[in-house]
Amino acid sequence: MKNIAVLGSTGSIGRQTLEIARAFPQNINVFALAAGKNTTLLQQQISEFKPKLFYSEIAIQKRTQAKYCTLEEIAAHPEIDLVVVATAGKAGLNPTLAAIKAGKNVALANKEVLVMAGEIVVDEARRHKVEILPIDSEHSAIWQCLRGEKHGEIKKIILTASGGPFRDKSLADLAEVTPEEALAHPTWQMGTKVTIDSSTLMNKGMEVIEAHWLFDVSYSMIEVVVHPQSIVHSCVEFVDGSIKAQMSLPDMRLPIQCALSYPKRWGADYQTELDFKTIGSLNFEMPDLKKFPALRLAIEAGERGGTYPAVLSAADEVAVELFLQKKIGFLDIPKVLEETVEQHDCISKPSLDDILAADMWARETIYSKYE
Ligand code: MG
Repeated sequence: MKNIAVLGSTGSIGRQTLEIARAFPQNINVFALAAGKNTTLLQQQISEFKPKLFYSEIAIQKRTQAKYCTLEEIAAHPEIDLVVVATAGKAGLNPTLAAIKAGKNVALANKEVLVMAGEIVVDEARRHKVEILPIDSEHSAIWQCLRGEKHGEIKKIILTASGGPFRDKSLADLAEVTPEEALAHPTWQMGTKVTIDSSTLMNKGMEVIEAHWLFDVSYSMIEVVVHPQSIVHSCVEFVDGSIKAQMSLPDMRLPIQCALSYPKRWGADYQTELDFKTIGSLNFEMPDLKKFPALRLAIEAGERGGTYPAVLSAADEVAVELFLQKKIGFLDIPKVLEETVEQHDCISKPSLDDILAADMWARETIYSKYE
């Protein structure tokens, strides 16, 4: 029996994590739940899973047996075996570090943690001998392909991208795209921020940075390939030219379950098998960096390192918000990112404080221009 904490329990990944907990009551005990503002759903989750601890940004109304704790207290609690970090944005950073420093494995769904502070997080994980178990479908795929393999025998990582809803649109059409259209993703059901990031390919750019830190590979060893069906979730090529791919229907419950069941695999009723007889064809193509410059910007920020990725990530949070509020257009998102990165005075080998200051600087710089 594993005691888990779910940080971000009312979001898309959090809710699906609790579905897995519901499907495997003999293996998973929900010890702590943490949510932001959706107190109605959090109340329901507390009544159903009866956690010992909870965190909520807003005070909850009903009386509960669960004890209120901060995110960091939950992450470091001695009885918790695995901390699922499914919060969005930079809110995931401190609890992730608290869990690692307390010697706990972290199942990581939050991208900003590794994009902002990849080096610090990975160093701390190494020092405290804990594992970061990826929940993102692509990184889960790579992680599964690497099981039983030697790091020195990796030739390259092939990171697949669905290409988002606007793959076939012209540059002129992209200028007219609305938030409603950007929120309708063809293959994946996800939170708002990550859905917009998928439509700009910023999501894939952040995933390249994550892959760099998670699997300790150089940027030149990571290749992005567009694969609209989202069946091949990523591949690893080895030095002898052999390629392993992980495939399944696009369903986030599988990568979540892989992290929760690790090092085992579990079978469950909800799982739908991929049927090769009905699947049709799988397509692969190059990403179009002219239409989706955010991918290039993210890879460049990753390669330049220091505080650049943190600035890019913060700039993207603000730019996506401005786009959703219809204050800027779709093609302005990468423009805002590029402008902000170019204005930034980068600090190489940043401390956590340097990273948070760079994040703040980026947000203030953009707000002062667009608000
Ligand atoms: Mg992904």
